[in-house]
Amino acid sequence: MAELNLVLLGPPGSGKGTQGERLNEDLRLPYYATGDILRAAVRDETELGRSAKRYMDAGDLVPDEVIVGVIAEALDSDEARDGFILDGFPRTTPQAEALDAKLAELGRSVTAVLLIDVSDDEVVRRLGGRRTCAANGHVFHVEFNPPEKEGVCDIDGAELVVRDDDKPEVIRKRLDTYHEKTEPLIDYYDHRSVLRRVDGVAPPDQVTEELRRTLATMRLEQDEAV
Ligand SMILES: [Zn+2]
Repeated sequence: MAELNLVLLGPPGSGKGTQGERLNEDLRLPYYATGDILRAAVRDETELGRSAKRYMDAGDLVPDEVIVGVIAEALDSDEARDGFILDGFPRTTPQAEALDAKLAELGRSVTAVLLIDVSDDEVVRRLGGRRTCAANGHVFHVEFNPPEKEGVCDIDGAELVVRDDDKPEVIRKRLDTYHEKTEPLIDYYDHRSVLRRVDGVAPPDQVTEELRRTLATMRLEQDEAV
């Protein structure tokens, strides 16, 4: 069977992480959230991990070449032989080019980019409505999962707060960055005919179903092409 090298794309709050974990179970392919594998490389003190740590300790952004190196190591592993699911990378056109170049070295390419499409207003509604328990991090949502008593954690009675990441101005800033840096990837991958768009506004189970259908259709097309 052909390998399945997948990239998840979508704004913050689009549910990429949730869908990535479900695809990971469905497809039995490793799921790589960039932040996690970068942290793992630092923890395991690999050569690239040590290099990444030097930048992080200095308060600098980890340069693309280091991130690409860490990801390439993961993609070149035994567990990723039949494919992988990437989340959080690439985030910019230069990163996408670097990923393509690395994969080409390995005789591989991106099979599909799954874009989970969600409007800005929906992102603000989702992230902005989150309330987090100050004591133990339990998460509620004013609209989708409200606590029994406003501002109080159902589980331990602690105060519910808005995390910095969930403040409207911070969400807008993350969205601006997404539009400016990451959105150009939609065209980039569309030109390469690997972009698949999924409506991310539907409930998570429906989004999962649509992703499954999209991948099944793609595999049929691949089989016909062989
Ligand atoms: Zn709590």
